[in-house]
Amino acid sequence: MHKILFSFFIFLGCTLPRSVSLPKWAYFPPQMSIGGPLGLYYLSSQITQFQNIRVCIQKTHSDYTDPEILLELKLAYLMWFHAALGDESRKALSSLQFLFDTPSSPCKASSKIHILFLDPLVSNDLALAHQNEFLPGKIQCQKTKNSSSRSIQSHCQSTNQKLGLGKAGDYTYIKGNLASFKLLNPSFAYLSPYVRWLPISRQLGVSSDIALSASQKNPLDKIGDLLKNVLVFFKVSSEDPRKTLSLMAQKYLTLLGDPKYENLLDFKNLLESESALGLGDSTLDTLVKQFGSSPQTSLNQAYTPTLGGFHVLLHEIGHQFGMAHADSPDSMTITGTISPHPKQNQLGQWVEQESTMAYGKPYLYLTPDDKGGIHYLSESLKKEINSLF
Ligand SMILES: [Zn+2]
Repeated sequence: MHKILFSFFIFLGCTLPRSVSLPKWAYFPPQMSIGGPLGLYYLSSQITQFQNIRVCIQKTHSDYTDPEILLELKLAYLMWFHAALGDESRKALSSLQFLFDTPSSPCKASSKIHILFLDPLVSNDLALAHQNEFLPGKIQCQKTKNSSSRSIQSHCQSTNQKLGLGKAGDYTYIKGNLASFKLLNPSFAYLSPYVRWLPISRQLGVSSDIALSASQKNPLDKIGDLLKNVLVFFKVSSEDPRKTLSLMAQKYLTLLGDPKYENLLDFKNLLESESALGLGDSTLDTLVKQFGSSPQTSLNQAYTPTLGGFHVLLHEIGHQFGMAHADSPDSMTITGTISPHPKQNQLGQWVEQESTMAYGKPYLYLTPDDKGGIHYLSESLKKEINSLF
């Protein structure tokens, strides 16, 4: 039996009381989310410096090409903004300005949002990874002899691995004085340095060369031939998955060449209507099989899983907006009051597995629970900001 468990960041620390009548969704109190993308968007109508939000992307040694990470970040922000604001998401998304952090033009100091693919070769990144408990994947296996049947059994275990971390920015203000509002720290999303992250395109069998070519609007031919691995990493609900995945790959390539709002919305709708899921990593399976057929009696080694980056980005960006864990709300999370319902635990908290914000399936879209939650949080955030200033 081998099992891989993925864990995301859970906020620990101070405890906030839950008030008497609250909604069922798991999110952090609105006052903790004002420094995130949605809070800053609401503030931008009155504070001009937030009309353009710089998003700084640090990405070295990654399978993502620059146009691919740009596309997938825009898609993730669009999904949350659209669920929160509807058509106004066009305006909100256009206020984000994406930049790459390079030695010649570093963007971290001037940005309100940081997206970091932590780099295992950079000491600062490793210190940050260590501080936030990112660890390499580890597998342990043992062979035992079953005395009755004289057969040999293999038992394998893998350690929990934290994949990402996300949070809204911290801020300070003087009540009633809008001009005093200051962002102290940016919102962030960190991705583990101990994972090989793949873009959606690679999961759909599109090579980085083709992706770059599409982003430069070069004519593409033989796309069909290039999608040989199309069923490896993706799951869709269509009766003809191969056709759907091929369409998805083509739409992705179109988006790389022309990442306009309508195309992003179209791609979001396709992922949603197909209930698209990323599939699990096969690295562990391979190691377990190799061990089973080897003469070794034990195995204890580190390994690097290969995973799609989008569902983790979507989850961590959800935290930036102020969403909490739907499947294990903690004491800081707003959910319902005590009443008997199959989806409420003994503390009266609503618990939902079908959510991007749960540790469940790798959703490539926002589920009804995610959408309900961010919509409600959005309204609460608006009220909170109005009450402060
Ligand atoms: Zn999380």
